[in-house]
Amino acid sequence: MLDLDAATALLWERFAPLPAERLPLGDAQGRFLAEALWARRDDPPFDNSAMDGYAVRAADVEGASDAAPCQLKVIGESRAGEPSERGLGAGEAIRIFTGAMVPEGADAVVMQENTAREGETVSVVVPSPEGKHIRRAGEAVRATSGLLGRGAELRSGEIALAASQGHAIVPVHRRPRVAILATGDELNELGSTPGSGGIYDSNSHGLAAAVREAGGIPQLLPLGADSPEALLALVQEGLRADMLISTGGVSVGDYDLVHGAFEAAGVEEVFWKVRIKPGKPVRFGVSGRGVPALGLPGNPVSALVTFELFARPALRTMIGDASPHRERIKVKLSRPMTAPATRTELARARLEGDVAHPSSRQGSGNMTSLVGLDVLLILPAGAGKITEADALDLRGGRGSAQSPWEA
Ligand code: AMP
Ligand code: MG
Repeated sequence: MLDLDAATALLWERFAPLPAERLPLGDAQGRFLAEALWARRDDPPFDNSAMDGYAVRAADVEGASDAAPCQLKVIGESRAGEPSERGLGAGEAIRIFTGAMVPEGADAVVMQENTAREGETVSVVVPSPEGKHIRRAGEAVRATSGLLGRGAELRSGEIALAASQGHAIVPVHRRPRVAILATGDELNELGSTPGSGGIYDSNSHGLAAAVREAGGIPQLLPLGADSPEALLALVQEGLRADMLISTGGVSVGDYDLVHGAFEAAGVEEVFWKVRIKPGKPVRFGVSGRGVPALGLPGNPVSALVTFELFARPALRTMIGDASPHRERIKVKLSRPMTAPATRTELARARLEGDVAHPSSRQGSGNMTSLVGLDVLLILPAGAGKITEADALDLRGGRGSAQSPWEA
């Protein structure tokens, strides 16, 4: 049986960013650029004022002080979006506002707070050396220079910068479409009333939410009955997506028929069973067309924990995130825990500061441990009784380029 690090290493080889699509900038939030964006114009596009005040010639206000104000004649106005038509000569000033084009002949701006206005005359009481309060054309961004690199995540700041350069349509990696197949004769849809021996299908909904959180697009398949024919048809349908995730039917019971359905659909096995708790029976394979298929266990906690370990980083990679992994952090345990002898346990816990409070219900069928979850504690196989642990940080934040299982 594979260790967790060996299994994840086998998995990462199989994933790469999906091809690009071109989207309106506003729809590309949270996506990653598939190509670099270039600057199309200087920014600022023209010399403009950084202040409300007066455009002047620095030489005219050189010796200005409270005791000896320099008096200039105000001959016009330059507003943002409406430049002054006139240039400026010796002894003259032009009223100017933030973002307005600096008029011909002016080489400095005096801020309004350092002036007094009386009719057509402005008195300047502080000198303004050449270039003062002027934002030069191209000082922030030069036309034709690189604006945002390939792989950049489009967050609010990046979107603002792209918009400032008129990039209305941007090339970004596609979001992965993930087919979700819940299997088991006992499963019932939400809105129905389970009969004797029946339960609600909760995995589909939890996994769909997890897929969305990872940036993917979930596609729920009809519930899969425990029959080889039914499962084969659904697996084939699911393999039309970018990834297939099934739950249930991957253990060793008589009705664990997902193995057969994967095989019949041409999914080549990469691994089956990993030394972890929960989630040991997890199965991973790749179809003839290269579509990854993850068979997650049916126990709801196992399903979400194995999604977190195997599916989420894969989906982040597909959407183009170069830091697809969760951060690995060190925490203190609020109570000592005992690691299993032969499997690495991923225990669910909440975090307060750097103290982790493990759920008191670590059973793989008990979904209450998934509520308010902050971290997965990593209890290494054979570590015995421990009071501190490494943990996968599930709370948002930036990802890590390095797999938490890399040595
Ligand atoms: P299996 O892996 O098919 O043997 O299922 C293991 C356990 O998980 C059983 O108790 C199932 O009833 C339960 N289970 C399987 N699929 C789901 C599901 N989609 N939603 C909730 N529980 C499930
Ligand atoms: Mg089952």
